Amino acid sequence: MAKKTTTENHCSFCGRPESQAGILLAGLNGYICSDCVEQANQIIKEHYGSSSHAKQAPRQDKPIPTPAEIKAHLDQYVIGQDAAKRVLSVSVYNHFKRLRYYEQHNDKNDVEIEKSNIIIVGETGTGKTLMARTIARILDVPFCIADATTLTQAGYVGDDVENVLVRLLQAADYDVAAAERGIVFIDEIDKIARKGDNPSITRDVSGEGVQQALLKLLEGAVVNVPPQGGRKHPEQKMIQVNTRNILFIAGGAFDGIERAIASRIKTNIIGFSGSRTREEIDKHNMLQYLLPMDLKHFGLIPELVGRFPLFTHLNPLDHDALRRILSEPKNALTKQYKELFKMDDVTLEYDDDALDAIVDTAVEYNLGARGLRSIMETVMNDLMFDLPTIKKGSTTRITKQLVNEKINNSTINTSLK
Ligand code: ADP
Repeated sequence: MAKKTTTENHCSFCGRPESQAGILLAGLNGYICSDCVEQANQIIKEHYGSSSHAKQAPRQDKPIPTPAEIKAHLDQYVIGQDAAKRVLSVSVYNHFKRLRYYEQHNDKNDVEIEKSNIIIVGETGTGKTLMARTIARILDVPFCIADATTLTQAGYVGDDVENVLVRLLQAADYDVAAAERGIVFIDEIDKIARKGDNPSITRDVSGEGVQQALLKLLEGAVVNVPPQGGRKHPEQKMIQVNTRNILFIAGGAFDGIERAIASRIKTNIIGFSGSRTREEIDKHNMLQYLLPMDLKHFGLIPELVGRFPLFTHLNPLDHDALRRILSEPKNALTKQYKELFKMDDVTLEYDDDALDAIVDTAVEYNLGARGLRSIMETVMNDLMFDLPTIKKGSTTRITKQLVNEKINNSTINTSLK
């Protein structure tokens, strides 16, 4: 056995020898081990509330992705929803241009370019979050998703509105300068609507108060953010974040807003009276007629609506859209299972009518796009169980008969009927 030499190098910080500490980085008069590097980095982060590259100059050299490029990226993952994709692409494009403008003008704003904050209204499961996540992949700015339902007015149980920025800071690895150019997706914004159209005399905890607090973030202010989130308390060290250049995208289902839209355009959602109206109005997709006033009517305060100059809607997903969702996106469910089978050296194939049967079930039980996943699981589970024992190099075919058999024997069938 090799004898341990006494000349072994030691970490100058923790004192451990190289044989215990692993990699030692050499300095002029000493060494540091990887654990101490990590610990030092953590201490610096906590001290400055930012990582060591926080003060790096924003990147000016990289070309800004065009709206067409952003949309083309969205097209790979999100089926349909063209109107929303276009509005979102322009909003993100303008965000980058705006950042570039202020960088080039050294923050002296000759012309004040306003933020293109955007509200996306669409039934649950139609792709709001998916769109936000997909956009995040091509951005070189920090991006986070915050849930509006967890927010409450200061002084009540729940999260302060500033917590929205905690996630952004985390996404930016506590690089404040980077976070200040980031994008925040606020999900379920409709859940903080005040109840009823009238301003309340006594402010309601989960509604108007939160909206007022959110307004401050949207307007652009220096906000004190508790680094670890949660409730603020007096002794806590805060990180100051300026929200002037943060882009906010909000999404919500706004359940029932169709009725408000319908009554605004003087029509009845159930039956249209005048024949002209009947021709012009697509009663299955009232969201396309959305106007900011409908959001106010739903319970968003006018100031908040005013801070979202762009708004768009997502269309409900029909049979055709669900069928495409099942097989077309880059990470479509059918492709995912194929890959899983491939890893066991088994080729997986689907009959067209088998996929139709899966979509029929999702439509029949009103399960939407989210339901596709559980139906697929139901169909595939036994096969996956046996997969390791299936003959290598063979082909497994998913037929309509197999789909119907699995669905008929499953709990989906009994619990939803
Ligand atoms: P929302 O945020 O609108 O409630 P999500 O974006 O979370 O809905 O969608 C739920 C799931 O349904 C997604 O993860 C995705 O698999 C699928 N999905 C929904 N809409 C689409 C779409 N337009 N294109 C592709 N997949 C979709």
